Amino acid sequence: MTLVDTPATTTGGPSLAQERRLVTAIPGPRSQELMARKAEAVAAGVGHTLPISVVAAGGGVVVDADGNSLIDLGSGIAVTGVGNSHPRVVEAVTAQLNAFTHTCFTVSPYEGYVAVAEKLNELTPGDHVKRSALFNSGAEAVENAVKIARHFTKKQAVVAFDHAYHGRTNLTMGLTAKNIPYKSGFGPFAPEVYRASLSYPFRDGGLDGREAAARAITQIEKQIGAENLAAIIIEPIQGEGGFIVPAAGFLPALVEWANANGVVFIADEVQTGFARTGAWFASEHEGIVPDLIVTAKGIAGGLPLSAVTGRAEIMDSAHAGGLGGTYAGSPIACAAALATIETYEHEGLIARARDIGAVLIGRLNALRTADPRIGDVRGRGAMVAIELVDPETGAPDAALTNRVAKYAHEHGVIVLTCGTYGNVIRFLPPLTISDELLVDGLGVVAEGLKNA
Ligand SMILES: *Cc1c(COP(=O)(O)O)cnc(C)c1O
Repeated sequence: MTLVDTPATTTGGPSLAQERRLVTAIPGPRSQELMARKAEAVAAGVGHTLPISVVAAGGGVVVDADGNSLIDLGSGIAVTGVGNSHPRVVEAVTAQLNAFTHTCFTVSPYEGYVAVAEKLNELTPGDHVKRSALFNSGAEAVENAVKIARHFTKKQAVVAFDHAYHGRTNLTMGLTAKNIPYKSGFGPFAPEVYRASLSYPFRDGGLDGREAAARAITQIEKQIGAENLAAIIIEPIQGEGGFIVPAAGFLPALVEWANANGVVFIADEVQTGFARTGAWFASEHEGIVPDLIVTAKGIAGGLPLSAVTGRAEIMDSAHAGGLGGTYAGSPIACAAALATIETYEHEGLIARARDIGAVLIGRLNALRTADPRIGDVRGRGAMVAIELVDPETGAPDAALTNRVAKYAHEHGVIVLTCGTYGNVIRFLPPLTISDELLVDGLGVVAEGLKNA
């Protein structure tokens, strides 16, 4: 085994120089070295968006081993809302590490877990009595939400939607819509998972929210039947599926139908939750109150934690021992979550997400006016995307999307793509990014479009 001389630990966090700085090509020599080791040591199925070797991150930048400083417009997929290595998170985690690292909550409980549950019950939509259960990943929490809904309703079927993304475990792969790369060759998938049509304003011919909901409800009633249906699960704004914001009225109509038919309505807010959309949770924009809400990504400043929160009578229906997991609700992740939630509050990051959204939407709409290849600009708060199309036909242009993303990466901007058709560039900056970096990053994307 060879040990590569990596630079001494660099301190990250918001005190890192907030600048785009390229001192080598991307990837530089040290990053290339790591990529070569990765290819030899890591399973090929574990891909990467940028071929870099990260040594520090914070505020709105990611620094690589070659000394390049990249603008972060991805937040590690909507995770580091409070920025990497936020001092409050570092302090809370350090204190917890020094106290104890693990007991397993279901063996010998500790306060952090309970405090996170209390906070989630308080912050999530609805004034009803709630309970929470904590897990490690988004997919694990989605699985548990389905488990709980089935146990409560004594029914089995679950409906997910076109373009949905719910994770990579067996059940959540089944709930996920897109074949490549998420599902192909990994079946068979779990039974009793059904799919209904989404409201996708840019591509469904102007159906309004109520009409789109009526279409989905007819599919559900004709193909499954409410008497067999345990739960509807939906992302209030779809993430991997293309940042699709359903038409107004779509979500409320589904909730209304679910409530009237003994079906548990599950909001998967793994990507949209925690200030990202300019509200604590995206459900708030439509005034809906989900029966269960699934959270993860933005919850703990980068530490692995997820949760299911919801109506006490549903959550409490599962017997003791039916829910849990060795690491679920790790004390370290809980300490991070409490500090993270405090940071969203203390630094006014919900309002900041709205301001970031105004900058993103303003600049991207201006680009769109001059460039018909941008078919759509959409999103809420700091969760915004452009959909790239053939201006003549409206057909998705994945090749253009990849060229623009590649240009951005090579010029020091981390952007992510998404969408069923691979033709969406999404913007998910940390809420601690400065306007200067944000505008610089968008300028590079604009250059990329010009060059592509
Ligand atoms: C990322 C994501 C998941 C899966 O979360 P993991 O932590 O990767 O398992 C589930 N649902 C949505 C909406 C997501 O964006």
